Amino acid sequence: MSRVIVLENARVMGSYENTCIVVEDKYIVDVGGPSICEKYDSVDRIDVGGRVVIPGLIDAHLHLGSLALMHDWVDLRGVKSIEELKNAISSKAKTTSGWVLGRGWDHELFVEKRLPTRWDLDEAVSDKPVVIVRICGHVAVANTMALKLAGILDKIPRGYEHLVGREGNRINGVLFEDAVKLVLDKAPKPSLGELADKIHTVLRRLASYGITTVHSMDATMNEYRALEILRKEGRLPIRVRVFLSLRDYKEKPNTLTLGDEWLSIRGVKVFADGSFGGRTAALLEPYSDDPGNYGKLLLSKDSIGELARSLAGKGLSLAVHAIGDRAVLEVSKAIKEYGLGNVRIEHASLTPPEVLDELVSHKPYSIVVQPHFTVSDWWLKSRLGERAKYAYMYKTMISRGLVVAAGSDAPVEPVNPWLSLSAAITRGRLRDINPYEKLSISEALAMYTRNASIAGLDKYLGNIRKGFYADLVVVDENPWGLYDEDVAGIKPVLVIVGGRIVYDILH
Ligand SMILES: [Zn+2]
Repeated sequence: MSRVIVLENARVMGSYENTCIVVEDKYIVDVGGPSICEKYDSVDRIDVGGRVVIPGLIDAHLHLGSLALMHDWVDLRGVKSIEELKNAISSKAKTTSGWVLGRGWDHELFVEKRLPTRWDLDEAVSDKPVVIVRICGHVAVANTMALKLAGILDKIPRGYEHLVGREGNRINGVLFEDAVKLVLDKAPKPSLGELADKIHTVLRRLASYGITTVHSMDATMNEYRALEILRKEGRLPIRVRVFLSLRDYKEKPNTLTLGDEWLSIRGVKVFADGSFGGRTAALLEPYSDDPGNYGKLLLSKDSIGELARSLAGKGLSLAVHAIGDRAVLEVSKAIKEYGLGNVRIEHASLTPPEVLDELVSHKPYSIVVQPHFTVSDWWLKSRLGERAKYAYMYKTMISRGLVVAAGSDAPVEPVNPWLSLSAAITRGRLRDINPYEKLSISEALAMYTRNASIAGLDKYLGNIRKGFYADLVVVDENPWGLYDEDVAGIKPVLVIVGGRIVYDILH
C-alpha cells in the first residue's frame, strides 16, 4: 500500500480556494477545497492550521562543495576589529586539532582600518596553521606556521612574487588571488565519506529554510561522488542538480550516469568574465572608477557555441557566468549564431537597453540572478556610474518575457532564501538607484520555484499541481501579508520533499 498524506486547512499558493493537498508516495495526486480532503480517510492527516503552503524552493545557483568544505570554518563576517578577529580564531583553535580556517572578514569594517598580518594571527595562534579568507575570496592572511608549511617563507614559487604581501623585505602573510591556494591546498582534504557527511549537514540546513532542490554550480567530480554516496544510502534530504566545472566535465569517466530525480547532472558551468568587485567583469565601456579598464572577456562566442552544441547532443545545458554587459552580449551572440536552446546565463548583472534587446531577441532558456547582490554590492555606483541603473533589472527582464530564476550564490552570499526573496522585493541597498526593478512577492517566489524548475530542466517541480512531485513548504507567516522587509524573517514549519517529511516544527 502506498502512503497517503493529506494536508488540510491550508492556504495553497496560487489559489486560496484550495485548502487541501493530497500526497501519495512522492506525488501530489489532488489539490482542491475541503471536499477533496473528506474523500480520503484512514490516512495521515496534517492540519496546517490555516497556514500558507508554497512549492518547495529551488536555489538555482549555489556552490554546494564550497559550502560543505567551509561549514566548520570560523565565520568572521561582521567582525569589527583585529582584536575581535584574534579572539575568534584563538577560541576556535581550542576546539580544533588541525588547521584553523576562517572566512568572511572585511578590513573596511575594522576600527584599525588595515589588513591583518601574520604577526597578528601569531599572537592569537602560533602552534597551529591558520588561514583566514577575506569576504571577497580574493585575499587571505596566513599565520607563520601556515606559511612555513606551504614553503612560502623560504622561497616564493616563481610567478607568485607579486601575489605575496610584504612589509619592508619581510613577508607579512597577506596573500592575493592564486597565492591563497598555495597555502589552502596544504590543509588536509576530507575523505570522500567525510565530504559526504559535510554535504549532508549542509543539505539538512538548506531543507530547514524551505529549500527542496539546489543547483550546485562549478561542482567537482569529487563532490558528485560524495553526493552519489548519499543518494545510494538514501540520505539525500533534498534534490541536487549538478553543473560540473568544465575541468571536471572533461575528466569525467564514461561510466558516469545522468542520475535520477534526486541527484542528476544537468550541465556544465563556464565563466565568460569575472566580477564587479574585482573590476574583472567585461564591460562595453570602462569602469567609472578605473578609466581604461574594460574588465576581461574570458570566452568567445565561438567557444560558447561549440561547447553548448556538444552538450546539447547529450541532453545537457551550458550555464555561462556573464556579469558585465560585454560578456552578456557575447553569450547572446553565441545563442544567435549557433541557434542554441540549451544556454542559461548566470548573473546577467548589467543589461543596458541595447544588450537587453539582443537578449530578448536571442533568449537564453533561462537567466539565473542573485537578488542578494543588491544588498552586498552597495558600492556599485562607484564602479559603474550612471550605468548602475541598468544593473539587476529583474522586473524589466520578466516583463520582456525572459525566464528569470534565482539563487543565493552561497557561500558568497547567505544561503537563507528568505533573505534573497526580501532583497528581490526591497532591492536592498540599491533601492534608490532603480526602484522600478523591485519585484512583488509573487514574482520573487516564481523565480525561486516555477522559473527555477525550468532553469534546472525539471518538468515536475516548482508548482503545487496534480502530477507534480510533492515538494511542499508550510511557512509560519503569510508572505503576502507582511511588510517587504519582514519577508526576510519567514520560517518554514514543515518541509516535504517527494512525499517525505524532512523538517517539522509544526507540532
Ligand atoms: Zn556562483
